[in-house]
Amino acid sequence: MSKKRNNLLLVVSGPSGSGKNTLISCILDNRDNVSHSVSATTRAPRGDEKNGVAYYFMTFDEFERTVEEGGFYEHDVYRENRYGTLKADVIKRVAAGDNVVLDLTVPGAVNLKKEFGERAKTVFIIPPSMKILKERLIARGTDPMDVIERRMRFALESEIDRYREFDYVIYNDVLEDAKKAILLIYDSLTTGDKNVKKAAEKLKTVNSAEFAEKIVDRFKKEADMI
Ligand code: 5GP
Repeated sequence: MSKKRNNLLLVVSGPSGSGKNTLISCILDNRDNVSHSVSATTRAPRGDEKNGVAYYFMTFDEFERTVEEGGFYEHDVYRENRYGTLKADVIKRVAAGDNVVLDLTVPGAVNLKKEFGERAKTVFIIPPSMKILKERLIARGTDPMDVIERRMRFALESEIDRYREFDYVIYNDVLEDAKKAILLIYDSLTTGDKNVKKAAEKLKTVNSAEFAEKIVDRFKKEADMI
């Protein structure tokens, strides 16, 4: 493996239910020297989420103070709670020599890219259809139906069209293919291997803007699924 230039910041984003957490876990489980940045949030811990592991859980006042102190690279509001990428957490991981994977809202991903330029690469995960998105959110069993419907409406009205602002798009229809795609993107950005880079470029063609456009159009036609 060739020597790394700069630590990579790989941002994965997409609608809730698009499968981004599974794809992030796939990178963390299969590659070395990569870690997941721990964000700050004002939302309450879910299940057995531990402070400093899942998130740094903050009060609204603590969060606001951190904003004022310039402690975040970016921050956003999602479903009435605040979320932010802590500079201290990312700096710590980079200093340890890790590449960093981040799971951010769509505006958060775009803002982080503005902050870091080419050093940050952004991946948008497109779910195959509204129907499948709904099925996945129901199967997850974490949200009541009204929340699922709100998530779907948000995906349709505020998220899905923004795939254009991302460096890569992964169409998450067949999970095994999506896993291969995210590992290929990661490897192409972290190794100097020409064949890997070529394969990742090909992937960009497969998931071309034209292809993504068709998928997104189909997604919109299914608005009555909500
Ligand atoms: P959850 O509450 O389900 O853990 O996360 C809700 C949303 O917040 C997810 O879409 C996740 O991508 C996003 N998120 C988590 N941490 C951050 C962060 O630091 N910044 C931004 N902008 N979004 C985040």
